[in-house]
Amino acid sequence: MRTRLTSFFARLLAGDLSVFGGPATDDTMAGHIRAEQMALVLGYSVGIMLANACNAIVLAIALWHSPDRELALIWAIVVASAAIAFGLQSHTARRITKPQFVSRHAMHRLVRNAFVLGAAWGIVPVAFFADAASGGQLVITCLCSGMLAGGALAFATIPVAAIAFTAPIFVGIAICLSRDGDPAYVLVAILVVVYGTVLLRAVFVYSFSFARRVIRQVEAERTVRQDPLTLLPNRFAFNETLDAALKRLALSGEAFAVLLLDLDRFKEVNDKFGHPAGDEFLVQVASRLQRCTRAAEHVARIGGDEFALVMANLARPDDALEIAERFVASFTAPFEIEGRQIIGATSVGIVLAPRDGSTQLDIMKNADAALYRAKKAGPGTVCFFEASDDRMSRDRKALQADLEGAIARDELFLVFQPFLDLAANRITGFEALLRWQHPQRGLVPPSEFIAVAEETGLIHEIGEWVIGRACAALAGWPEDVRVAVNFSAAQFHNTTILQTIVQALADANIAPHRFEIEITESMLLSKYGAAGAILTALLELGVTLALDDFGTGFSSLTYLRKLPFSRIKIDQSFIRDMLVQPDCAAIVKSVISLARDLDIDVVAEGVETADQLDYLRQIGCDEVQGYLISRPVPADAVLKLLDMKKLRAIFAA
Ligand code: C2E
Ligand code: MG
Ligand code: MG
Repeated sequence: MRTRLTSFFARLLAGDLSVFGGPATDDTMAGHIRAEQMALVLGYSVGIMLANACNAIVLAIALWHSPDRELALIWAIVVASAAIAFGLQSHTARRITKPQFVSRHAMHRLVRNAFVLGAAWGIVPVAFFADAASGGQLVITCLCSGMLAGGALAFATIPVAAIAFTAPIFVGIAICLSRDGDPAYVLVAILVVVYGTVLLRAVFVYSFSFARRVIRQVEAERTVRQDPLTLLPNRFAFNETLDAALKRLALSGEAFAVLLLDLDRFKEVNDKFGHPAGDEFLVQVASRLQRCTRAAEHVARIGGDEFALVMANLARPDDALEIAERFVASFTAPFEIEGRQIIGATSVGIVLAPRDGSTQLDIMKNADAALYRAKKAGPGTVCFFEASDDRMSRDRKALQADLEGAIARDELFLVFQPFLDLAANRITGFEALLRWQHPQRGLVPPSEFIAVAEETGLIHEIGEWVIGRACAALAGWPEDVRVAVNFSAAQFHNTTILQTIVQALADANIAPHRFEIEITESMLLSKYGAAGAILTALLELGVTLALDDFGTGFSSLTYLRKLPFSRIKIDQSFIRDMLVQPDCAAIVKSVISLARDLDIDVVAEGVETADQLDYLRQIGCDEVQGYLISRPVPADAVLKLLDMKKLRAIFAA
C-alpha cells in the first residue's frame, strides 16, 4: 500500500499524466514527454518571469501609502530579483539543444519552483489586502487573477505544475476573503471557484492532447527505425549508429568497423518456397546474426537480404574478422522452415574506419566493393576492403579533365521533370536535372559527373550556371509553378551562392517562393555550420527547402527538425519496393504521418506504375514525381506538358 502511494506521488511529481487519467506511458516515453513539456515551459519562462518582476514592482507602487509599505517593498524586491535571476537562467538553458529525455528529478525541481513562486504570490492577499486602500485592493485582485490565468497558461502542458503554482494563490485568496465579513466577498469567492475550475479543466484537456501528440510522434519515429519483419534496427537506425561512430571518430579518434552482409541465394528461397517462407528465413537469420554480436551492438537489416553491423571502439581489425567468421559459421546448421530444411549462407565485406574512409559515403561505398568481391569468391567468404577495389578511380581522372571545359563548349543542358499534386491533380512545378552531352562518351548521367565536379570544385561554376538557367526557364512558366534545383553540399561552403541566387531571381524577376532548393541528408551532415547560416538566409528570403532522397542518406530523422523543410522527397527505392515489401510500405506510411505531424509536404520519387500512384493517393501522399507522370523533358517541352489536359484526366482519381 505504502509503495503504491509512493509510486503515485513520484509519478504525480514527475508530471506523469496517467495519474490524472491521461494517456499511459512507459519510462522512455514519459521522459520524452517531459522533455517536450519542459521545452515549452522554458520557452515561455523568460516572458513569464519578466511579467512577475513587473507585477511585483506594480504591487510595491500600489501599496506605497499603505501601513505595510516596508514589508511590501521587501517582498517586491525579493520576488522581482528571484524572477529576474530565474528568467536569465532559463534563457541560457534554452540555448543548449533540446534534450530527448528529461529525468523525473528535473521535473520535481520544476514543480517545486512553481510552488515556491505560487506561494510568494499567495502571500500577497493574506498579508496586504486587509490594510490596503481600495485602489490597492483593486490592484491586488487584478494581480492575483492575472497570476492565476498566466500560471495556468504557462504550465498548461504540466497539470501538477499548474496546480502547484495556482493552489497557493487560491488558498491565499480564500484566507483573505474568509477573514472579512463583506457579503460581496462571497460572490467573489464563487467567481474564483468558477474560474479555477474552468482553468484546470482547460489545462487537463490541453495537456492530454499535447501528450498524445508527442506519443504519436515518438511512435512514428520508432516505427521508422525498426524493421517490422525481423524487429532489428532498420536502415535509418543503422545510419544513425554509423553517424554516431563517425562523430566519435572525429572527436576522439575511436576506430570502428562496418560489416556488410548479403545472404547468398535468398532469392532462390523466396522463389522456390514462397514469400512467407522467405520471411520466416529472414527472421531466423536475424536472430542467429544477433546472437553472434557483442551485447551492446545490434545487427541492422538495411535492405531485403542485406544486413550490416557497426562495431564501435575497435581495438584490432581481427576482432571484426572474428565476428564476421561467426556470422558465416552461424549458417552451418540448416534452417528449419515450414517443415523443410533450408541451407543458407552469407558473404561479408568489412571496412575499417578511418583506414578505408571517414565519411559515410566512402565507408558504405567501400563496404559494398568489399562485399562484391566476397560474393564473387563464393558463399561464406569474408573480405576486407582493398584499395584495388576502387577500379573506377582512373576513369574518373579522364572525366575530370573533360568536365573542365564543358560549360564553355556548351555541352551542359537542363531537363525538367514535373511534380504532380495528388489533391489538385495538377502540375505544381518541375525539378531541374543536369545533363552533359559529351562529344565522345555521349550523354553522361549526373550520377557520374556531379561527384567529379564536387571533388574538383567545378561544382561552384556548374551550380551557378544551373541556377541561372533554371530561373530563366521559370520566368516563362505560369506564376503557380515552381522550379526545384539540386544542390551539392560543397556549394554551401561558398558564401557567394547566396548572392548568385538573389541575383538570378532578380534578373528573371521571380518571386523567391517559386524557387526550391533540394538538398540531401548526407549534405546536412557535412560541415553543417556554414551551410546552416546560408540556408537560413535563403529561407528568410522566401526560398523553400526540400529534403531529397529521404531514407537513403546517411543521417537521422532529427535533421528534419534542424531546418524548416517545406517538403521531403521519399527516395525512389522505397516507392519501387513498397508494393512488394511490407517494410518499405510501413516506412513510407510512417514518413507520411510523421511529416503530417510536422506540417511538411511529402513527394514520392520514382513513381512508375499506376498501382504505386493509387497506393500513394490512398495513404495521403501530397505530390508524386516519376516516369509514370513524365520523364524529364527539355525546357521547350515544359509548357506543352503544362497544357496537356489529357495528362490531368489520366491522373484524376
Ligand atoms: P534526384 O535529385 O533524386 O533526381 C531524381 C532522379 O531520378 C533523376 O535522375 C531522375 O531522372 C530520376 N527519375 C525520376 N523519375 C524516375 C522514375 O520513375 N524511375 C527511375 N528509375 N528514375 C526516375 P538523374 O537526372 O540521373 O539525376 C540523378 C541525381 O543527380 C539527382 O537525383 C541529383 O541528386 C543529381 N543532380 C541532377 N542535377 C543536378 C544539379 O544540377 N546539381 C546537383 N548538385 N546535382 C544534380
Ligand atoms: Mg532532386
Ligand atoms: Mg531524389
